Amino acid sequence: GQDAGGADCRPRTPVSFELYPPRSDAAALALGRTIDRLAEADPAFISVTFGAGGTSRDRSLTVLRYMLENTDVEPMAHLTCVGSSHAEANRLVREFLDAGITSFLALRGDPPVGADSDEGIGDLDSAAELVQLIHRVQEEREPFAQVGIPGLPGVTQIGERPRPERVAVAAFPTGHPRSRGAAQDVDTLLAKEIAGANLAITQLFWHADDYLGFVERARAGGVTIPILPGIMPVTTPARLARLTELTGVEPPASLAIDLEIEPDAAAQVEIGIDFATRLAADVLDGGAPGLHLYTFNRHEAVLDVVDRLGLGPHDRLVNERNTTER
Ligand code: FAD
Repeated sequence: GQDAGGADCRPRTPVSFELYPPRSDAAALALGRTIDRLAEADPAFISVTFGAGGTSRDRSLTVLRYMLENTDVEPMAHLTCVGSSHAEANRLVREFLDAGITSFLALRGDPPVGADSDEGIGDLDSAAELVQLIHRVQEEREPFAQVGIPGLPGVTQIGERPRPERVAVAAFPTGHPRSRGAAQDVDTLLAKEIAGANLAITQLFWHADDYLGFVERARAGGVTIPILPGIMPVTTPARLARLTELTGVEPPASLAIDLEIEPDAAAQVEIGIDFATRLAADVLDGGAPGLHLYTFNRHEAVLDVVDRLGLGPHDRLVNERNTTER
C-alpha cells in the first residue's frame, strides 16, 4: 500500500485484483484494456489464475508478462501442484521466475474430474509443499542472493536478483469442501505459513462474520500472516449459480432472490456492487488488512466497489465518473 499522495497522506488500504487467462484472441485484447484500467487503481498486485494440471500455463504467463511490460503493477502467478512430479513442479516454478515473476499464490489445485482419490496422483500433496518448493527453487537458482550475517537475524540481499516478494496461499473461511472441520482449515493454513507463506487470500464468503470469525480462530491457532478477504461483486443470477457450483459456498438466499427477481440488467449490477461494497466495508471495519477483488475479467464492477469505499486514487474517481459508461 502506498500513500494516496497529494494533500491526503494517510496510508491507503491495499486493494488487489484477480483475473483468469483469456480463452480467445478477442478476450485477450479486451483483457489488456481491463488490466490497464485496473492498474489505474494502483493495486498492490494483480493475480492470474492457473488451470490445475498446467492447461493454462502459456496463457497465464502471457497475461503476467503483459503486466510486467506495460504496467507498474506487481503480477502474482497462481500455480498449482496437483498431479505434478517434483521435476515438473520445479521446472514450472523456474520458468515463472525466469519470466521475472516474483509473487506467487501457491495452490494444490483440484485433481482432474474422475480421479478416484487425491492421493498418489503426483509427488506434491498439498499447497504447503509447493510453498516450500518455490522457496527451494529460488535458493538453488540464486545461491548467492541470500547471505546471512553471523550474529544478526535475517538475511541481507545482495545484487538485483529477483526474489519471491510474496508467496501467498488460499484460506477457506467457511471451510474447504474436503475439510473434516473448522480446526483442519486453520491447521492447513498454519502449515502453509510454517512452510514459508507470507500472505493468505480467502475463498469467497458472503457474511462478514464468516471472515472475521475465521481470522480470529486462525490467530488463536497461531497464524500470524495477513489474511486478505476475497470478495466478488456478483452481477447476474447465472454468475452467482456458477460461483456456487465452483466454490461450494452457499450464497445468502436474499442475494440469490434479489438478483433472480430483478428483470433489469443494470439494476442487477447495482445489487451486486452494493452487496460487495457493504461486505467489504464490514470486513475492513472489522480489521481486514486490505481487499482482494475477484474481477471475472471485467474492471467496471470492482472499480465501482473500490471507489464507493473511497479506496481509489483520489484523482481517478473524478476522471472516471466523467469518462466512462457501463
Ligand atoms: P491445500 O491447502 O493443500 O488443501 C486444502 C484443503 O483440502 C485443506 O484445508 C484440507 O481441508 C483439505 N485436504 C487436503 N488434503 C486432504 C486429504 N488428503 N484428505 C482430506 N482433506 C484434505 N485452483 C486452480 O486450479 N487454479 C487457481 O488459480 C486457483 N486459484 C485459487 C485462488 C484462491 C484465492 C482460492 C481460495 C482457491 C483457488 N483455487 C484455484 C482452488 C484450489 O486449488 C482448490 O480449492 C483446491 O481444492 C485446494 O487448494 P489449496 O491450495 O487450498 O490446497
